[in-house]
Amino acid sequence: MFRSIAFVIFLLASFVHAKVVVNDITQLNPIEVTSVFQPTSVEQIQEFIKNNKGKISIGGGRYSMGGQTALEGTLHIDMRRMNKVVRLDVKKKQVTVEAGIRWRQLQEIIDPHELSIKIMQTYSNFTVGGSLSVNVHGRYVGQGPIIRSVDSIKLVMADGHIEEASPSQNSELFYGAIGGYGGLGVIVEATLQLVDNGKVERTARSISLKKYSDYFFKSIRNNSNAVFHNGDLYPPDFKDVMAVTWVKSKKALTDQARLIPANDSYSFQPFAIKMISSSKTGKKLRQSVIDPISYKKTVVVWRNHEASYDVAELEPKSRSETTYVLQEYFVPVGKLVEFVDSVRPLLKTSIFNVVNVSIRHALPDTGSLLAWAPKEVFSLVIYYRQKTDKKTRKAIAKITQDLISAALEVGGSYYLPYQIHATSEQFHQAYPKAKEFFALKQKWDPLNRLTNSLWDRYYKPEPIAPTTE
Ligand SMILES: Cc1cc2nc3c(=O)[nH]c(=O)nc-3n(C[C@H](O)[C@H](O)[C@H](O)COP(=O)(O)OP(=O)(O)OC[C@H]3O[C@@H](n4cnc5c(N)ncnc54)[C@H](O)[C@@H]3O)c2cc1C
Repeated sequence: MFRSIAFVIFLLASFVHAKVVVNDITQLNPIEVTSVFQPTSVEQIQEFIKNNKGKISIGGGRYSMGGQTALEGTLHIDMRRMNKVVRLDVKKKQVTVEAGIRWRQLQEIIDPHELSIKIMQTYSNFTVGGSLSVNVHGRYVGQGPIIRSVDSIKLVMADGHIEEASPSQNSELFYGAIGGYGGLGVIVEATLQLVDNGKVERTARSISLKKYSDYFFKSIRNNSNAVFHNGDLYPPDFKDVMAVTWVKSKKALTDQARLIPANDSYSFQPFAIKMISSSKTGKKLRQSVIDPISYKKTVVVWRNHEASYDVAELEPKSRSETTYVLQEYFVPVGKLVEFVDSVRPLLKTSIFNVVNVSIRHALPDTGSLLAWAPKEVFSLVIYYRQKTDKKTRKAIAKITQDLISAALEVGGSYYLPYQIHATSEQFHQAYPKAKEFFALKQKWDPLNRLTNSLWDRYYKPEPIAPTTE
């Protein structure tokens, strides 16, 4: 009796909101969940899982773009109030954080110690738990997926008990949960490696796509002074690249700010993106006039400053009729030109209004079960604008499937946090160890409690063979 009263009080105190819509930044995937629970401690998550019977979905920053954070009728755990640093070891350059912390919050804490996050995305709004569950990557030279910078994780499992996992302890769970889209357990803590902060200077070079790979391998890949690198492949022709590298520097800063000021106002950038994306002329103007002028400017900033972008700089006034969306493809390094040549007609389709393609590089990830880079790859991040009506969405689904087929054709893969258009066959071809992941899910979550739109679409547990005496 007292236990149930206490639990009701605990639920009220922990902000349970009834019937709420969970959506993502594209606004394309509104999903009505039964309730939203915002825990502030590991124990609260354990209690919540033990005391409720329903299916559970997990959300971090909610920047994935295909309903990966929710499923109709689930109990949703919103991790964003689990945002504390548990332990910071400055000497060891290592930090343990609660999984709902955003990169930006962590940067504010480690920056005064001259430390930086080793691997993260370009923007700093994402949570650590969401980033680990997707196994994200950034523009870091000589790196790749974030798993390369993780020492260990702590999870609350589908029955409420706790497991710890690292490459040497419970390694099966470590390599399944990182990149596992919340299917195996709730990541509640992570211990991450940090690196030194330092000054970086931007350098830029315009080069043809055909010559880009040679240039990258000769000048960037093994350059220990290079910190960030990406190549912008210019629409509307997709033949030329602006290769941008940030190198370690001793020069005077051109911007004194340690981090990009939080809550900066960004009215000009969304306007510029809209102008550039509105016509072929806008895109050509960017390539031939705007970028050449802006890249001439010397820029020297702190590494943490360059890693602290806010997605607000991309946010349009409204997403009701058109919205901006991402897709990403991974191709073996020797196949970059072949892949772009094969998809150029798709990239030029008018309803798929490509604003930018960012080329990045990743070293192999031989551990994760759902690795997107089992070999060394170039990745192509496509940022595009689309209408939100049904007809366009259907047409984009078909284009996406064709792009996935082209990536698979050259031995590549595609990224899972975006719209869920891949067929089941494409998913399994791109992620050949998915069945091993499913077997692990069956072991740790036999009732399939932890779910979302991604796992609802692809997770098919193998039927359990009857036991014979
Ligand atoms: C503008 C923009 C730029 C981007 N740039 C990059 C980039 O440079 N590199 C890159 O790799 N990706 C990039 N992405 C994709 C982004 O990294 C992923 O969508 C990432 O998951 C976002 O983190 P999040 O906290 O919003 O996660 P969410 O979207 O909230 O969650 C992602 C997945 O993780 C699960 N999850 C969340 N928290 C937990 C937890 N604590 N335990 C278990 N499971 C959990 C969710 O259920 C879901 O399946 C970009 C996205 C946007 C919108």
